[in-house]
Amino acid sequence: MNFCFVGEMASDAMQRFAAGLREVMLRHGHSFVPQPTDDIQLVFNFTDARRPRPFRRRAKATFVISVTEASDRQEVDVAKSWAPGAGGAGPDILKQAYPILIRAVSNLLLYRVWEPGGSCWQTYFVTLEQGAFPVPAELQEGTEEFFEYVYRRIEPLATSQLIIDNEFIPDLEPELWEGDEHTEEIYWAGQRLAAMDLLPAPFPIQELLSPTEYRHVQHLYNLGGLSYGNMSVRHDEKRFWMSASGVDKSNMRKVGEEILMVKDFDSARGVILLSVPPLVEKPRRVSVDAIEHWMIYHEHPSVGAILHIHAWIPGIEATEFNFPCGTRQLAMAVAEKVRQAPDPSRAIVGLKNHGMTITGHSLREIFERIEGKVVRQVPMS
Ligand SMILES: [Zn+2]
Repeated sequence: MNFCFVGEMASDAMQRFAAGLREVMLRHGHSFVPQPTDDIQLVFNFTDARRPRPFRRRAKATFVISVTEASDRQEVDVAKSWAPGAGGAGPDILKQAYPILIRAVSNLLLYRVWEPGGSCWQTYFVTLEQGAFPVPAELQEGTEEFFEYVYRRIEPLATSQLIIDNEFIPDLEPELWEGDEHTEEIYWAGQRLAAMDLLPAPFPIQELLSPTEYRHVQHLYNLGGLSYGNMSVRHDEKRFWMSASGVDKSNMRKVGEEILMVKDFDSARGVILLSVPPLVEKPRRVSVDAIEHWMIYHEHPSVGAILHIHAWIPGIEATEFNFPCGTRQLAMAVAEKVRQAPDPSRAIVGLKNHGMTITGHSLREIFERIEGKVVRQVPMS
């Protein structure tokens, strides 16, 4: 993997941190390039926490890690109006750092905080899935073990592959244009999630970005309004209905806009194929986790529905690594856990630092199994 540094290292501490990152990357055989090239794979973007500046990717495959430091707890306007759904390193850290991650248009943020009353920097990883977790305190900053740990947490993310491209094919049967009993079940499930208070407030992304930056973010991550969770219902042997990306999950009805028919996955091109009615007013992309659901439906004909929420049931089996949403690697890790479950058609899989994916015969049956057991706090480590 080739990597480079961009932005400003404003302090000595930041320069030392950058030197450590560079050393550990080189030790693992990656090559440092002085300037970002068109095919750059990993960019470390050093930026000011108060005025985060994005690095403009030229290719979608470029993974951007922003690095920033806060000498004290930052006040970010949007943080006042936004309450994250899950905690982890403390909702506080997520509340401060998540807006920086978004404004810097990054895939990952390394957020360094001089703890009030503390005597050293604490480094947190902040992910798009609203994960926030620290480098363990016993690893002393600046040591080889410290940077080795940082490296092991970022390398799998930086090399994972997003499967978020959609192709819309106007071949949906006319009798499905207005939906059917399965889309009605998705509508019902969205309302249940709202009633159970499991729909986190969508992050007010548009307030933070200029229109150009917003389009850039949408294009990159297929993010609508950063609202989380998704659900799907099998339609036939090959196809399934799934919630769209960035829609209000408590009110999903319109076919082609709020609920989409996933027709297939073109593995060679890495594209999700969708059947839509010929005239759709505001076409939307399918949820980024369509690849994960596609893998599960194809492997297990007995699975009739899948629900993904950012919440937890204590004691569940979880994936070992927090791969990003919408990647082939996350989909494969979840599919593997479903395969290992005693009954793959009734599996509850934890997604590390992220949430759960639950399979069932129907969405109603899934809710019957989980109601009363779900906690909002996702464990972070
Ligand atoms: Zn998720």
